[in-house]
Amino acid sequence: AKELGRNQYRFFTESLHDQLQAYIRFSREMPKALETNSFILEYQPQVSLKTGAIIGVEALVRWDHPELGIVSPQRFISVAEETGFIVPLGRWVLKTACKTLKHLALHQMSHIKVAINLSSRQFRDPNLLTMIRQMLQEYDVDPACLELEITESLLMHDIGLAIETLKELQALGITIAIDDFGIGYSSFNYLKTLPINVLKVDREFIKDIPDHLDDMEITAAMISMAHRLGMTVVAEGIETQVQQVFLEEHHCDIGQGYLFSRPIELSKLMVLLTKQDAK
Ligand code: C2E
Ligand code: CA
Ligand code: CA
Ligand code: CA
Repeated sequence: AKELGRNQYRFFTESLHDQLQAYIRFSREMPKALETNSFILEYQPQVSLKTGAIIGVEALVRWDHPELGIVSPQRFISVAEETGFIVPLGRWVLKTACKTLKHLALHQMSHIKVAINLSSRQFRDPNLLTMIRQMLQEYDVDPACLELEITESLLMHDIGLAIETLKELQALGITIAIDDFGIGYSSFNYLKTLPINVLKVDREFIKDIPDHLDDMEITAAMISMAHRLGMTVVAEGIETQVQQVFLEEHHCDIGQGYLFSRPIELSKLMVLLTKQDAK
């Protein structure tokens, strides 16, 4: 027990030290990384649970660091949010996603949607709408192909302003998804007042299916209530066929997870989509 205690203590202090080091290092290096084109956008397929076809992708950012290798967004997004760097980074993500949408349309794949993650800081940026409008125009993107994933915490800051912004985005033809649903303060009573098209059930509820009956019941209830509110449901983090079958039986619309594909680079996505078109 003594040994464990000491190790835990060491782990704790090292982790704090690492966090601080990473914060200082990343906040200094990130702006340069954008200039040297060191961020990468990967795409994770979203599959129709009715037809099995890939109907969209979620774009996920990575950092190809000269010394550290590929750095996960779990390590640098929170730093980018705190320093404000998320605004230029988010702009790069949107721009890259728009280029990809243009590329898809040029290859007769204009039915594929691209979803990007929007952080709270970006959402509160007064230039957001203008920037999105300009970007859609510059790359000649059909707004119906762009989906924005937001979280509940983003809505908390100023619910009135959030609803206004969401409505304006929807008026442009953009789809709004609520990400990581179920783990925060979410309530359906509150959700019904919001202009949201898609609900993404968090992996937390999916990962223990079929071992945890309560997760299965909650998931089934979330799907049926979301449908009642007219929303499309995406289940995140599907890793097994048992989970897929459970979700299909409960009429979940779309699945995303390692069972179908990990996040992949654009060229690999094009191969998958071309194969599927050939069938
Ligand atoms: P998220 O938006 O919830 O994205 C889903 C995460 O789950 C991704 O992690 C994805 O790789 C992972 N995942 C997908 N399927 C499975 C599965 O079957 N099993 C498991 N264990 N994991 C799965 P990733 O790429 O590391 O991204 C982590 C988080 O970083 C994202 O969570 C999102 O919150 C944030 N993020 C990523 N890209 C961006 C971005 O461009 N902008 C912003 N603001 N945040 C981003
Ligand atoms: Ca997401
Ligand atoms: Ca998510
Ligand atoms: Ca998550």
